[in-house]
Amino acid sequence: MKTILLLITLAISSTQEPERQTERDIMINKQIINRGINHEATIKAMRKVERHKLVPENQRANAYADSPLPIGYGQTISQPYIVAYMTQAIDPQKDYKVLEIGTGSGYQAAVLAEIVKEVYSIEIVEELGLRAKNDLKEMGYNNIHIRIGDGYQGWEEFAPYDAIIVTAAPDHIPKKLLEQLKDGGKMIIPIGQAFSHQQLMLIEKKDDKYTSKNVMGVRFVPFTRYPE
Ligand code: SAH
Repeated sequence: MKTILLLITLAISSTQEPERQTERDIMINKQIINRGINHEATIKAMRKVERHKLVPENQRANAYADSPLPIGYGQTISQPYIVAYMTQAIDPQKDYKVLEIGTGSGYQAAVLAEIVKEVYSIEIVEELGLRAKNDLKEMGYNNIHIRIGDGYQGWEEFAPYDAIIVTAAPDHIPKKLLEQLKDGGKMIIPIGQAFSHQQLMLIEKKDDKYTSKNVMGVRFVPFTRYPE
C-alpha cells in the first residue's frame, strides 16, 4: 500500500504543470503574437521560460506584465515584447553560438538558450551576474556561460559568434563586437544617449562589410564602462 501511494505521489509530481503557464500564454498572445512576432522558436522559448523565477521576489507578481521591471542596482529586465523582437531579429538557429552583453536578470539568456547551442553573456554588475548564474543553474540551463566584466571588448576566447545581442545602450557601436561577429551574422544593439531617445539597430556582416538599419526607437539602461 505504501509503495502504491508513493508511486501515485511520484506520478503526480512528475506531471505537474509548469508554474504560471496561463499567464505566459496570455503574455504570448497579447504582447507577442498580436504585435507581429511570428518567429516560432522565439514564441516557443518565451512560452516556456519561467520569467518569474528570474525577477526579484518583490517583482514576482508583475513578472508577466507588459513592461520592463526593476531588478536592483538601477537595472531592469526588458519588456517581454522587446526580448521577443530582439531574439527574432537575430534569427537564432539550433547550432548558433550567441554573445549577449548585459546579462541582467538572465531572462534574455534563458530565452536564447532554449533555441541555440551556446550562450555567452557578460554582466558588469557582479551581484547581478552571480545572481543570474545561480538562478539559471537552478533552472537547469547548462549552455549559458556568464562572465563578470565590461562587455565593451566582447569575449574574444569564444569568438566569432553567429549573432550578438546588446541589452544596454552605448553611444556608439563597440568595434570589438563587430569584429567578433561571424561573416553572415547579425547583431542587434540599442544606440544613443543614456536615458534619452535611442535607436535599436540591426547590423549584418557580409564579406567584411556591414549594413545597418534602425528598426525602432527604444529606451535601455546605459552601457557603462570600467575606467580604462
Ligand atoms: N538582458 C537583460 C537586460 C538587463 S539590463 C535581461 O534579460 O534581464 C542591461 C544590463 O546590462 C544591466 O544589468 C547592466 O548592468 C548591464 N551592462 C551595462 N553596461 C555593461 C557593460 N559594459 N558590460 C556588460 N554589462 C553591462
